[in-house]
Amino acid sequence: MRNDLTAFWMPFTGNRSFHARPRFLERAEGMHYFRGDGSSVLDGTSGLWCVNAGHCRKPIAEAIAKQAAQLDFAPTFQVGHPIAVEFATRLTEILPATLNRIFFTNSGSEAVDTALKIALAYQRAIGQESRTRLIGRMRGYHGVGFGGISVGGIENNRRAFGPLLPGADHLRHTYNPDVSYQRGQPHEGADLADDLERLIALHGEDTIAAVIVEPLAGSTGVLPPPKGYLERLREITRQHGILLIFDEVITAFGRLGVATAAELFNVTPDLLTMAKGLTNAAVPMGAVAVCESIQAAIFKAADPGIELFHGYTYSGHPLAAAAGLASLDLFASEGLFARAAALSQPFEDAVHNLRGVNHVRDVRNLGLVAGIELDPRQDEPGARALEAFHACLDAGLLIRVTGDIIALSPPLIVSLDQIDEIVSKLKAVLTALR
Ligand code: PLP
Repeated sequence: MRNDLTAFWMPFTGNRSFHARPRFLERAEGMHYFRGDGSSVLDGTSGLWCVNAGHCRKPIAEAIAKQAAQLDFAPTFQVGHPIAVEFATRLTEILPATLNRIFFTNSGSEAVDTALKIALAYQRAIGQESRTRLIGRMRGYHGVGFGGISVGGIENNRRAFGPLLPGADHLRHTYNPDVSYQRGQPHEGADLADDLERLIALHGEDTIAAVIVEPLAGSTGVLPPPKGYLERLREITRQHGILLIFDEVITAFGRLGVATAAELFNVTPDLLTMAKGLTNAAVPMGAVAVCESIQAAIFKAADPGIELFHGYTYSGHPLAAAAGLASLDLFASEGLFARAAALSQPFEDAVHNLRGVNHVRDVRNLGLVAGIELDPRQDEPGARALEAFHACLDAGLLIRVTGDIIALSPPLIVSLDQIDEIVSKLKAVLTALR
């Protein structure tokens, strides 16, 4: 099996270098992965920000197995199945009260593209056909669909793929290089939200359908929102008839110590995307929570029959719904969101101990997320962090790197000792790194 790796085209991976130096994870349990030789790898990054309750949790595995034996698949086009309805209803119980309509997808990327399409359909439904522009933010990551990369703010993810969606534009990002080692939200920078006024003046408010932001930018290096920034963005969007979409693919399901970033910051968007922790990553699934009044407007304007010409074969897949319900039960029965909240302070203290360590130029954090920014090697951007990734894996720790930034986002079941282990392993790796 291992001799020829070439059939599997790996996503977001240097395939050629992987082939030269393959690395596999073969089993997982709780806070750990296990490699072929039996050695354990502490999961400092919840797989890919997604295994919030830890790996191979029995109640989730059992729920999936039971569902697979009872109803493996049924369409949700023109017929329904009870578990999709049950999961949608249960999900609304942990979301802001107005976000009580759920559209299921299979991934975060699809959730983003679905949210953008619903926003466009809504503006058209209320007679605002000219509102077709979608606004994202520099350093935003919204998956890899054409909608998501158009509003996303990562050049590498856009460069090869042509003109993308017409009319998309971007707010300034919220990173301030003059502030480092900020614990939690930056105190300055609420006024960066006023950048939306610039785009409104430039394009005209009657051309803009929606603004999408990650409440905390995750994939581009952990950027917590400045205090007051999201509140201000909410105010401006409301004033100008622009929908606000929170992309909570990373932040939902306890990552910040509560169910959603919307809850933490007390700012309610019009649409909210989820994936990852939605099913504890055991079965792929994404979702968009939509404000009831948005759905009502689309329904009202529609001809008899189908109101929204959109959906996926696997929208509300029974196995994913079963995994999602079991995940919600587990989050609740083990109080994992509150646990993450309680761990936030010790986690913050631990990661800020990396200040002064070889190559570290900044540490940022919120909830159970931290970004550790390294000084790049001259003429080799990203090389140092990638080497740290390899060295950590060899030392039995999984981290995530983007550019020269290391992101930590352990499962919410992480213990205090394991937080110390993550930080001390990372410290040792960085200390030895060229
Ligand atoms: N949106 C955000 C904020 C994400 O972090 C991600 C993935 O990391 C996505 C969307 C895309 O999700 P997926 O990889 O499931 O398509």
